[in-house]
Amino acid sequence: NYPLSDRINNMSESATLAMAAKARELKSQGIDIISLSLGEPDFKTPKHIQEAGKAAIDSGKYFAYPPVSGYQDLREAIAAKLQKENNIPSSAEQIVVSNGAKQSLANVMMALLNPGDEVIVFAPYWVSYAELVKLAEATPVFVTGTLENDFKPTAEQLKAAITPKTRAVLYSSPCNPTGSVFSKAELESIAEVVKAHENLLVISDEIYEHINFGNEGHVSIGSFPGMAERTITVNGFSKGFAMTGWRVGYISAPLPIAKAATKIQGQITSGNSSIAQRAALAAITEDLKPTFEMTKIYQKRRDMMLDLLNQMPGVITNVPTGAFYIFPDISSFFGKSDGQTIIKDADDLAIYMLNKAHVSVVTGGAFGAPDCIRISYAASDDELKEAMIRMKKVLSELK
Ligand code: PLP
Repeated sequence: NYPLSDRINNMSESATLAMAAKARELKSQGIDIISLSLGEPDFKTPKHIQEAGKAAIDSGKYFAYPPVSGYQDLREAIAAKLQKENNIPSSAEQIVVSNGAKQSLANVMMALLNPGDEVIVFAPYWVSYAELVKLAEATPVFVTGTLENDFKPTAEQLKAAITPKTRAVLYSSPCNPTGSVFSKAELESIAEVVKAHENLLVISDEIYEHINFGNEGHVSIGSFPGMAERTITVNGFSKGFAMTGWRVGYISAPLPIAKAATKIQGQITSGNSSIAQRAALAAITEDLKPTFEMTKIYQKRRDMMLDLLNQMPGVITNVPTGAFYIFPDISSFFGKSDGQTIIKDADDLAIYMLNKAHVSVVTGGAFGAPDCIRISYAASDDELKEAMIRMKKVLSELK
């Protein structure tokens, strides 16, 4: 009997990691599971980045504690990238490098929020947002986009949700789990609402910036006039550079917030792995060709997946323009049964898919969208095709 903290008792486990663990367990029993539940590129880290990691070890120069907020040359390179590619006014002092964008977000929550503060979280949202806000003893307030509007909340919806307690607005674009991408015009109208409120901040998670199939390219809200001083831009190397295991993410934030995030990080992790930082420096300063090639492949898979899903009666999709997820509405199956199992909700459907089709997906409930499931298409074409054949079959058995 080990009494645990209220903090941990009130926290949900990461649903994506939980589903991945279930899938792994069935796999270890010899069952042929196709795993489409994790947000993990199926590519290897590009060679030149691997080499930079090896060179860092061989040089013998990077075995000591690095500076808490990251090596100066990496922070300078990140600031230069943000200025050049994203038009965000930034400097090395405003950059904090962390153990993945997940820790970057956790630092920001800890640095900004007091009990009773509210953070507006655009829903559907990435699983960890709500839990990280709660960990900082603040309250997530969800503003939900509809399927008809490509799952994107509007500036009007945002305006209506702001209260005197609202500290920040948090979203990802391209979005995990919906694949939606805010247009420049949409972000401008969101920025106008934010600017009308003193002290209101935006936490803009841009970790999928490179995986964008739209014509407009990636737009950063921090580039708009008057927004740099209100925006914390979160980004990282996991997705665009297939570097999930290296654990490198970063923020660019107004200086007092960057300093506060560094202070927290100094007490929690002392900073990010030295070797991973040297690899990240190569990723950000060298050729982006491998990144663009991966994006082209994701786009082809997106097209294939849409085609296959649209052949399944009762499955409704938006057309995702970024990231590597499809987030179909499967609520037409609620109340149906295969004669044994009744599907009450998206949780049941995800479990049904795992047990009967041996395909792991994640319930939309974990992302604040209980009518949907999230399918990751960061898997090979063959796996995706086979998964969709199985999904079509088991869904057709629900009457
Ligand atoms: N933000 C979003 C929207 C994500 O999907 C993820 C990973 O799934 C992260 C942040 C965290 O990325 P990492 O901690 O690997 O940098």
